[in-house]
Amino acid sequence: MDFELNKDQKMIQNEVRRFAREELAPYYSKWDREKTYPRELVRKMGELGFLGVSVNQKDGGLGESFVTEGIVCEELSRGDCSLTMSTHVAGHLCAGLLEHGSKEVKKKFLEPFLAGEQITAFCLTEPGSGTDAAALQATAQKKGAAYILNGEKSGITAIMDADFALVFARTEAGTGARGVSCFVVPCNLPGVSKQAYEDLGCNAIVRGSIFFQNVEIPATCLIGEEGAGFKLAMQGFDISRIFLCLEAIAPAMVSLQETIAHVKERIAFGRPLASFEGVSFPLVEHVSLLEAVRLLCYKALWLRDKGQSSTKEAGMVKWMAPRFSTNAIRDCIVLHGHYGYTKDYPLEQRLRDVLAIEIADGTPQVSKLVVQRELMGRAYLSYNYRH
Ligand SMILES: Cc1cc2nc3c(=O)[nH]c(=O)nc-3n(C[C@H](O)[C@H](O)[C@H](O)COP(=O)(O)OP(=O)(O)OC[C@H]3O[C@@H](n4cnc5c(N)ncnc54)[C@H](O)[C@@H]3O)c2cc1C
Repeated sequence: MDFELNKDQKMIQNEVRRFAREELAPYYSKWDREKTYPRELVRKMGELGFLGVSVNQKDGGLGESFVTEGIVCEELSRGDCSLTMSTHVAGHLCAGLLEHGSKEVKKKFLEPFLAGEQITAFCLTEPGSGTDAAALQATAQKKGAAYILNGEKSGITAIMDADFALVFARTEAGTGARGVSCFVVPCNLPGVSKQAYEDLGCNAIVRGSIFFQNVEIPATCLIGEEGAGFKLAMQGFDISRIFLCLEAIAPAMVSLQETIAHVKERIAFGRPLASFEGVSFPLVEHVSLLEAVRLLCYKALWLRDKGQSSTKEAGMVKWMAPRFSTNAIRDCIVLHGHYGYTKDYPLEQRLRDVLAIEIADGTPQVSKLVVQRELMGRAYLSYNYRH
């Protein structure tokens, strides 16, 4: 067992850490306040090869391992965990799907995404189905050489800025997950409209709903086989959930480092705060838990790099990482005293942003269901009892 990063990984880690420190962190709060998606910065990420790290080289990516992409996600998130949700979670899911597309699809959509020129969104959730995603109602009816798309996708990360979307719709009625197909859809087609949400956090990557009213899309926009969409989405989640967890842990770790520095400096009752165990022990507990989950994230990515399943590990980290991270950041706010509650520090924003990660890509409950299924088998899942 070797926990050492190789030479290339150390180089990438240093480069991305510098980028996050200099180009993301100073603007993290400004983009949130102004609700601005920093397109120029994303273009720069594309130029530097930070997008599509694990996408095959033949498809225009770097062809690096999932572990290396995890390092990139973690480092970027030290500067801005919100933007990374769009570029490296929705982005990762969409790039993975586009790799199943035709040569034309790759040229038209994957290439501009990897170059940071176009923003993408992953559209699975609907007003009536989130956790029970296979119950989705949007339809794509075949009509000659086209499909006619109808329905609403809700809660979608960065949808207001997205140039195109990967959309899951039912191509066969009454067949559950097996009747779901995936399509790549430009957002400027006639019949497409959007509506923004007012969110608690992640305000730079504005979430919202996208509506499709008799939208005609060429059959060439089908991704993979007809009916294979749901399986492709679930395969993507096995990895994107781990990236998302590293994105939760990174701002929590930065907050803990800042808080450790603060409590070593701040004097109360004639002593540094750090010398009170009521102050130091919670910090010790948060760092211990987060370091353990962080290692499990990398183990899960390592398993995927070896071609093995990471479903159980992805479920485990998905319920733990965002929960432990929000707990840690909340204590960091309290340990900063009244200053911690101001908007002068990024702590409150990190808390709002990381809370989103508890829900996005699956709640703690569904994550535990995944782990339960892996440990006990399908027969004991509560949703097998529905009528
Ligand atoms: C910040 C953010 C970003 C998002 N980005 C995207 C995106 O880009 N694309 C996309 O498609 N979706 C996105 N979503 C939607 C997200 O995936 C769903 O919100 C999530 O899967 C939960 O679905 P729901 O909101 O319909 O809740 P519901 O499914 O209605 O669940 C409500 C509550 O009931 C619990 N619950 C449901 N079923 C069970 C069960 N069987 N056992 C125990 N508890 C259960 C859930 O855990 C939850 O707490 C995003 C959401 C957020 C908050």
